[in-house]
Amino acid sequence: MKLWLPDRTYFEPEALNYPLGKKIYEFCQDKSIEILQTTSHNQVRGIPGKDEKAKFANAKRTLVVGTKKNLKLDVCKPSAHYQFSLMTNCPGNCEYCYLFSTQGKRPYVRVYVNIEEIFDTIDKYIEKRLPKITLFEAASTGDPLAVEHITGALKKTIEYFGILKNGRLRLVTKFANIDPILEAKHNKNTKIRFSINSKFVIDNFEHNTDNLKERLIAAEKVSKAGYPLGFIIAPIIRHDNWKTEYKVLFERLHQHISFAKNDEITFELIQHRFTSAAKKVILERFPNTELEMDERIRKKKYGKYGRIKYVYTKEEAEEIKEYLSNLITKYFPNGKIEYFT
Ligand code: SF4
Repeated sequence: MKLWLPDRTYFEPEALNYPLGKKIYEFCQDKSIEILQTTSHNQVRGIPGKDEKAKFANAKRTLVVGTKKNLKLDVCKPSAHYQFSLMTNCPGNCEYCYLFSTQGKRPYVRVYVNIEEIFDTIDKYIEKRLPKITLFEAASTGDPLAVEHITGALKKTIEYFGILKNGRLRLVTKFANIDPILEAKHNKNTKIRFSINSKFVIDNFEHNTDNLKERLIAAEKVSKAGYPLGFIIAPIIRHDNWKTEYKVLFERLHQHISFAKNDEITFELIQHRFTSAAKKVILERFPNTELEMDERIRKKKYGKYGRIKYVYTKEEAEEIKEYLSNLITKYFPNGKIEYFT
């Protein structure tokens, strides 16, 4: 596991009015990371690169520190009621990244320093649903664990949820940078899920993320620290030999997590999908990608804001669902499948 460090960090002017902004500034000074100013993340200029591919690679090594201005929370079906962002984008470089549809033009990593204002917003959304419990997803616009060694914001958020009666936090990660949050007073109000996949998918498509073994060791630690634990298998891809490879994945998972077999471990299953906008960006960034994105053999599915996604046919999706559900029942009889989509 190699912790990500940016080559350069841009600060929006108001970021330095917040303690977290100052802390990140000092972190960058300490690590001799180039510090630059920008009036807004939209105005970031000067990321080097002779072509689109090089610019993209350098953007992934760029951090922008600012405030979250739009504090209206989006709904986050099916995994939670709402989603909020401590950051946007991530240092990983997955070829299928779900952020390509929305963040394709702005791939630099952004972190937000006005976390107290974000917490106030969370309180308001909890109040609206009282006395019900409200679930919040913290990783739908990026992977906050990937920058936790720089910000410490996730630990603060976990501890904030730790004292909430009616709020629960969920996050998902492909990183193993778990040590900064192991000691957090979570009060079991935060569920940590690890995104895992077949060897073929991880080796071919998940660049600059931690490998499966590192994620499984991190999952073990998380479970031993008393956090509720879950796994997201996404995107499930019907590559050559997919059945054998997903079986091996569950065997390995079982080897690491069998000590927690009596706990309720949750599984979220998400088949591969793509939008036309994402496909265009993926082909620009990864011209030799082996990702299958052939609209002619896929089924159309209408998503949020009427966006068309391409998923597997009904029969193929049902085969995936049945096969993986059987593996879960076999290896984790107490496991709970939260959804397949
Ligand atoms: S780890 Fe997640 S957010 Fe980061 S590049 Fe991969 S899919 Fe995208």
